[in-house]
Amino acid sequence: MTVSVKPDARRNAGPYLYGREAEAVARVLEGGQYGHTETTEEFERRIAEFLGVPDAVAVASGTAALHTALLAAGIGPGHEVIVPSMTFCATVQAVLAVGAAPRFVDIDPASLCVSDQMVTEAVSDTTAAVMPVLFGGRPVDLSAIRTELDDRGIVVIEDAAHAFGSRSGTRRVGANGAALTCFSFGPIKNLTCGQGGMVIPRTPAEADTIRRTRLLGVVQSQGERANTTSYRVDGFGLRYQLSSLNAAIGLVQFDGFQAAEDTRRHLWRTYRDALAPLDGATLVDVDVEHAVPHLCQVRVPHRDRVFASLRSRDIGVGVHYPPNHLQPAFAAWHRPLPATEQVGEEILSLPFHQHLTEADIDLVVTSLEQALKAIGAA
Ligand SMILES: *Cc1c(COP(=O)(O)O)cnc(C)c1O
Repeated sequence: MTVSVKPDARRNAGPYLYGREAEAVARVLEGGQYGHTETTEEFERRIAEFLGVPDAVAVASGTAALHTALLAAGIGPGHEVIVPSMTFCATVQAVLAVGAAPRFVDIDPASLCVSDQMVTEAVSDTTAAVMPVLFGGRPVDLSAIRTELDDRGIVVIEDAAHAFGSRSGTRRVGANGAALTCFSFGPIKNLTCGQGGMVIPRTPAEADTIRRTRLLGVVQSQGERANTTSYRVDGFGLRYQLSSLNAAIGLVQFDGFQAAEDTRRHLWRTYRDALAPLDGATLVDVDVEHAVPHLCQVRVPHRDRVFASLRSRDIGVGVHYPPNHLQPAFAAWHRPLPATEQVGEEILSLPFHQHLTEADIDLVVTSLEQALKAIGAA
């Protein structure tokens, strides 16, 4: 049994199936256990082994990963968490979920990531954590300010939703031991479980907290529970486990991940070469030797008009992301962030997923050129 999705240049993003996902889900369906099972644990082991870390804790989504990581790090009311405004709203919602306050910071427009200096400038006496976002798959190296952060008891929690598989130096993101790292395996991420997430904890104690929290604070496993008349609730928790149905998808996707890395790098380089002669569009660069690219983004003048023009040509452009400090829900934490505001008006995500062909990329870039010409920008 195989199913396939066929997005092309009309789609901005989408999953790529390796063909055995449906079978794997069918086997779990027939097995009759859909909660946290041996399949989920096998997925955790495979990911931990791949990253070269002692432990990995699977949860229901990337948002749940961020939320449980913040809880495991002891972040809560009265704490401030440094977070770039240029991220998906989930990063900010996770901070609010633990009752902490986001402290929005600006980004380097070249990488769309925070820099050491931006983090250092934002640190205050109430700062309890910093959440760098590994935008588009780019690793964020905070080692130069590590001692300062440690001395102040500030925890680093990486939002690596875009960055599964990327390398920082010789290690995979998640393996440097100095941060809790959160991955998303949502529908459009480089590896998908349908929906899912993973936390790489720093310590066994953090792993325990996340394992308890993801199962409503209940400590026993399903198997243990079947043999006792009660169960113990040991602390706060939510229904955050990764379903075995989703883990089964993740295991097949993981087997295809080497192909995903190669394809994504190849497509990104194809875009880079095709965009090079184009006036009026600036590629947001990624070091694809290290990063597994998640997005292909350009900055253009009159972005909204270019966007509309490309949509009218049936090209699946997107915007990652409207800045969070300008969102109504986060107005209480607004502060001026000039680089983020500028990038927020110029950024455009070109179709980027593993179904693209070189011909699709040609079509996208030609259409972009025509759109820029039509508005007098190229
Ligand atoms: C996707 C994403 C998340 C949230 O992950 P979900 O699995 O959708 O909950 C968080 N941060 C960033 C930057 C993301 O792209």
